[in-house]
Amino acid sequence: MSGDRRDQDVIVVGGGVIGAAIAYGLTRRGVRTLVLDESDRAFRAARGNFGLVWVQGKGVSNIQYAAWTRRSADLWAEFNDEIKERTRIDTRYLRSGGLHLCLDEEELASRSLLMANMAEASEGVFSYEMLDHDELAHRLPGVGPSVAGASFSAQDGHVDPLSLLHALHTAFKSTGGMLISAPVTKLCYEKGGFEAKTGKGSFYSGKIVLAAGLGSRALAPQLGLNVPVRPERGQILVTERLKPFLDYPTIFIRQTEAGSVLLGDSHEEVGFDDGTDIKVMSAIANRARLIFPRLERTRILRAWGALRILTPDGLPVYQQSRECPGAFTATGHSGVTLAAAHTLDFARFVADGEMPAALDSLGEDRFHVH
Ligand SMILES: Cc1cc2nc3c(=O)[nH]c(=O)nc-3n(C[C@H](O)[C@H](O)[C@H](O)COP(=O)(O)OP(=O)(O)OC[C@H]3O[C@@H](n4cnc5c(N)ncnc54)[C@H](O)[C@@H]3O)c2cc1C
Repeated sequence: MSGDRRDQDVIVVGGGVIGAAIAYGLTRRGVRTLVLDESDRAFRAARGNFGLVWVQGKGVSNIQYAAWTRRSADLWAEFNDEIKERTRIDTRYLRSGGLHLCLDEEELASRSLLMANMAEASEGVFSYEMLDHDELAHRLPGVGPSVAGASFSAQDGHVDPLSLLHALHTAFKSTGGMLISAPVTKLCYEKGGFEAKTGKGSFYSGKIVLAAGLGSRALAPQLGLNVPVRPERGQILVTERLKPFLDYPTIFIRQTEAGSVLLGDSHEEVGFDDGTDIKVMSAIANRARLIFPRLERTRILRAWGALRILTPDGLPVYQQSRECPGAFTATGHSGVTLAAAHTLDFARFVADGEMPAALDSLGEDRFHVH
């Protein structure tokens, strides 16, 4: 079974949005790549997220992360054109600009301070506007009277996350990549190469990328890596289709091209439970009604819970193993926003075998207790 597959340059463990973006980034460079993915039974943030390609508010505590996020958002149009041309799949990506709505004056004041700090730390590269209620109502007709205002950044956008995942898998396969549904049970490093053991046999490669989301934590030590991620649940509600009324995605509400409105989200520490909860769903619906009173009589058609993949500081972890050179990990939150950088940049780091100093502060050293 595995004998004919020993000639992979790279094995990517995990076929979610991070693994698929990196894997496609490798095959488009001519690197022979195999993705091993656990299947639909696994937790998959890539299938349950909100679809924002978001810059504002990202990396307030880490300027490298802020720059990495901006770089990805800036690469998104080029990346999207490329996958669309290759696969004919429309991901519905739109860099429309985005709004972070503030529900009272206090929140608006602290948001204003946060945005000013971000702009200063970026030396003016991050751009934004603060809007009071009247300015916001002009841009977003129908916004409720209790919304105090918002921050707006033209650098934000949104995408249909399921189409993105489908497009990445299709682009990967069309450039020669191989995907096998098989959970990896063990990883071994020997004589400068890697063995990935699965129920379908063992697979061998010169390099390996661990991008298994919440599954990365258990596998990481076998590659000399440390990926201390935990689940955090977010619930999302979807309404019936409405006539277009929302020109911009916001952090809690966005309208899809088909007209459905997505209402998010929650931040719940409930372990590996990706179910839904009526109390949390009511709170999400009530907040949405306050923001847009017109949603009062709108029907909710679907709801789901999905698990975020969070490190202790909430930022992703990028690391090449010191013990097992050639083993990399890319694991964490904001995989949709970062998809362009994962395909166009991170895959190059893996192919070249070197992590750039620009991502030093996102390595695993930050988790060591000093
Ligand atoms: C509610 C919610 C809203 C979000 N909103 C946004 C947003 O608006 N914008 C944004 O940028 N990000 C958002 N995110 C985050 C984003 O979804 C994640 O960062 C992204 O999905 C992570 O991708 P991943 O590939 O690492 O993980 P996943 O998508 O979880 O995929 C991991 C994959 O690894 C596989 N796997 C696990 N263990 C093994 C194993 N042992 N062997 C083989 N395969 C294995 C699984 O099968 C799975 O396919 C949101 C997340 C949630 C939960």
